[in-house]
Amino acid sequence: MSMRNVQPTASHFIDGQYVEDKAGEVINCVYAATGETIATLHSATPAIIDQALAAAVKAQKEWAALLPVQRGRVLRKAADIIRERNQALSELETLDTGKPIQETLVADATSGADALEYFGGIAASITGETVPLGEDFVYTIREPLGVCVGIGAWNYPTQIACWKAAPALACGNAMVFKPSEITPLGALKLAEILMEAGAPAGLFNVVQGYGDVGASLIGDKRVDKVSLTGSVPTGRKVYAAAAEGIRHVTMELGGKSPLIVFDDADIDNAVSAAINANFYSTGQICSNGTRVFVHRDIRADFVKRLVERTKLAVIGDPMDPQTQIGPMVTAAQREKVLGYIATGKAEGAKLVLGGGVPQGEQFANANYIEPTIFEGVTDDMTIAREEIFGPVLSVLEFSGEAEVIERANATEFGLAAGVFTSDLQRGHRVVAKLQAGTCWINTYNLTPVEAPFGGVKMSGVGRENSRAAIEHYSQIKSVYVAMGGVEAPY
Ligand code: NAD
Repeated sequence: MSMRNVQPTASHFIDGQYVEDKAGEVINCVYAATGETIATLHSATPAIIDQALAAAVKAQKEWAALLPVQRGRVLRKAADIIRERNQALSELETLDTGKPIQETLVADATSGADALEYFGGIAASITGETVPLGEDFVYTIREPLGVCVGIGAWNYPTQIACWKAAPALACGNAMVFKPSEITPLGALKLAEILMEAGAPAGLFNVVQGYGDVGASLIGDKRVDKVSLTGSVPTGRKVYAAAAEGIRHVTMELGGKSPLIVFDDADIDNAVSAAINANFYSTGQICSNGTRVFVHRDIRADFVKRLVERTKLAVIGDPMDPQTQIGPMVTAAQREKVLGYIATGKAEGAKLVLGGGVPQGEQFANANYIEPTIFEGVTDDMTIAREEIFGPVLSVLEFSGEAEVIERANATEFGLAAGVFTSDLQRGHRVVAKLQAGTCWINTYNLTPVEAPFGGVKMSGVGRENSRAAIEHYSQIKSVYVAMGGVEAPY
């Protein structure tokens, strides 16, 4: 495929149009598969940030005054446009992230469209309740929060923008979204599409920038809520900054999730899940099951099949529909992952596959890394404790149910967990004891919009997707209505 021109009209999208301010620091958008700079943007200046927030404040009032069904219609129309343009949006996502087109065609813009369709569909049924109190009663009104700030990570730029925008807008809020500086392009397309679908100018604004732009947004008095998708260290800073102004938060942070395979599991399915849970998006997924606990009696067989199948993975040009493993998003991310692989070896884990960089001309200027499998990993090793965010799978052996639950929970994170077993009761019993916001039984990493998604412990606060997200983008006004006279003591 020839390289498309992906330079946007301008860096930011504010009040319904593209806006530039070249005084802002340069942001180079680099295609991870070739090292080419494919777009050059500028970080938002204070003037741009002010413009975006002012536009959001104005649009929010107009938007909240619409009938809920009218708001829903705009979101559903945006979902339809996204689906019509899935090919072009997926190519853009691949250029923005380096993720294989085979994935972006089915998992990025499409999952964003699902969110817009889902929240568009329920916009008109976001209601309060009536509480009878004898003759008196209380009714509640579910109100928007106002202006929400969304801050994105680089692994699923379009999906993250949609997962935040869809519930926020459905509840009657406006949004200022700051994509990751590494992947600035996808959110701009969402802004264009929402306008085309009939959203008022200023309802969904995109400002580019590094962490300081995110920090400026959160610190502004006009902001009522911040929703972050990012790492735990960033989450700590953003949560603290939001606390200054007692702002609402949703924190979608990192993980080190367990995938537990019991000896009665269907081994081929469990291997499939371990592959999906570690190598999809070249391992750059927050909910990945990177600690694969395998029962002692099946460990050797499991590892043999896992290695055999992972050897078949096609690494290459992300734009080739056959490619299954693309490059890491940046050279820095690859260095970080290679560092973890070196530490894994140094600390005594046994490398059974990969561990290096694929050789050949096509890989020369890119950030590729081989899918990597370690076995003999113990709980205290660095690769079993820290989020690597790359294609590195660790196999840990266990023998008892209580033991594996305790080891699975022995982490500061709590984003996700998976259990493979053919024993129905065991599946539910184990999941009930796992400290994780999202669990899977006999599958892994499926995150449909209908299901709540989010973490416990250090992995986050709040939930995205499903009706649960409505709780995090609205507030309740409680109205007591007296039907009789008022008694007073004197
Ligand atoms: P990151 O924490 O480095 O950055 C996330 C975003 O925060 C970026 O847009 C960045 O510019 C911004 N930011 C940085 N410092 C800030 C500050 N002080 N104030 C405001 N904003 C600031 O994360 P990343 O490297 O882009 O993404 C990878 C991380 O995201 C991983 O830890 C991964 O697990 C996590 N993640 C979580 C989920 C989830 O849903 N739980 C999904 C995807 C990624």
